[in-house]
Amino acid sequence: PADVVLSGVTRTYGSTTALDALDLHVAGGEFLAVLGPSGCGKTTALRAIAGFEVPDAGTITVGGRDVTTVPPSKRDMGMVFQAYSLFPNLTAADNVAYGLAVRRRGRTERRRRAAELLELVGLADRGDRYPHQLSGGQQQRVALARALAVAPQVLLLDEPLSALDAQVRVQLRDEIRRIQLELGTTTVFVTHDQAEALSVADRVAVLRAGRLEQVASPDELYSRP
Ligand code: ADP
Ligand code: ADP
Repeated sequence: PADVVLSGVTRTYGSTTALDALDLHVAGGEFLAVLGPSGCGKTTALRAIAGFEVPDAGTITVGGRDVTTVPPSKRDMGMVFQAYSLFPNLTAADNVAYGLAVRRRGRTERRRRAAELLELVGLADRGDRYPHQLSGGQQQRVALARALAVAPQVLLLDEPLSALDAQVRVQLRDEIRRIQLELGTTTVFVTHDQAEALSVADRVAVLRAGRLEQVASPDELYSRP
């Protein structure tokens, strides 16, 4: 699996410094949680890794390649957002297969792959439903399946659980972790919820004001005085 390396990444919006010479290393196959209060730069960091935000300074590499030199269609990344990111006029199966359609894969492969992924997220019998016919938790499962359908090198999750109620949140959190371990995909999971970060990640990176405050495993963070 690809590693992700941010070196001295700075991104400003007018007088706001969203990222301030951020250094961050995500090892290949690792599940890294990025934790910090609202406004500390978590979403900006994730969008920069995805190539949606071009840094003012610094470099970002994925599997050793500078993301800004890779055209968007060739960026092997899957992304899940907070909520409401499915295409409302496509069925669950067609949402999952969307990235494959963009890559011009044939109908048989799209069907097979959508069925596999829906099975993986526990929605094998919901492929023909439209998003509005699914619960919030089910919609996020479809979003996860869609992100994974193209077998991305890197999975980027931006507060994917925060719109869900507590019980569904824990359930889906555990499921995301199970799937990540099964596939071994390098994963960056943004959250402002400390318990969530500690329960799910191999390591937790704590951001403050656009900088890395600390990075440690959950055990190391727990055992600190
Ligand atoms: P987080 O995800 O940790 O809440 P963000 O990365 O969304 O933080 O934002 C970091 C800082 O950058 C905040 O002060 C935010 O208001 C600012 N910011 C983010 N995106 C923009 C933008 N497109 N235009 C102006 N300011 C922005
Ligand atoms: P988060 O839940 O991570 O804090 P926000 O709701 O603050 O996210 O931001 C959602 C989107 O709006 C992001 O894409 C972010 O870059 C953008 N954004 C955040 N702050 C600002 C801002 N002050 N001005 C313009 N866009 C912003």
